[in-house]
Amino acid sequence: MDFARTPDEIHELVNGLNFKEKVDRSLRLISEAREEFGDGLVVANSLGKDSVVVWDLAKRVDKDIRGFIVTTRYKPAATKQFMRETVERYPETRVFKNDVEIPDNLPKTDPDQCCDLLKVQPVRWAIEEMGVSCWVTGLRCTEGRTRTDYLEVEERDKDLLKLNPILLWHEREIWQYIALYKVPVNPLYGEGYRSLGCEPCTHITTGINERDGRWIGTSKCGGECGIHTRPLKETATA
Ligand code: SF4
Repeated sequence: MDFARTPDEIHELVNGLNFKEKVDRSLRLISEAREEFGDGLVVANSLGKDSVVVWDLAKRVDKDIRGFIVTTRYKPAATKQFMRETVERYPETRVFKNDVEIPDNLPKTDPDQCCDLLKVQPVRWAIEEMGVSCWVTGLRCTEGRTRTDYLEVEERDKDLLKLNPILLWHEREIWQYIALYKVPVNPLYGEGYRSLGCEPCTHITTGINERDGRWIGTSKCGGECGIHTRPLKETATA
């Protein structure tokens, strides 16, 4: 696969490529990975604006590409409804959820542990149960302070490649694609959200960074749930 290998190369391309060049590049990356990994290539769909674009691109490459969604008891009702509609439309999508008992206030007292249990652990299950050798994400390097140094292809876990095919896209280009190709999107964006997560940890903000509304009031503010930073192939613990 031909991809940018350093953060410097990535940052040059973010402003150096136009919208169409980025779309073509993303399609090429998914297509090459599909050729290499076959059914082991699976799309992680968070039901956010970036994920629906990646999912649409993947379906343009091959309509049989599978996906998985991780949901939690704390997802907003609108997101749960959007998830039901997505699964109905794409039955090749599997849903993973951790129903382990946790203290009611865990999202506030220990969001890292909460995310680890409710978000990271189900991703591990998905990777194991679906036989994933390459997972595809909607990560973008212009989303916020924690996302500036990723690459289009990563191998954090042995024998598990991670493809970030829209890493170079600006937020504007995501909405451009959604509008042009009429991709269904979570209606919560109409309320003013720019980044969606669980209800207790997601707020509407007007700051510069898209992820500023995530985990406000905690040490995790604007940060990560852990699926892009924690090991995903270790033994299941919950
Ligand atoms: S986003 Fe909040 S509620 Fe959701 S898993 Fe993480 S800490 Fe828990």
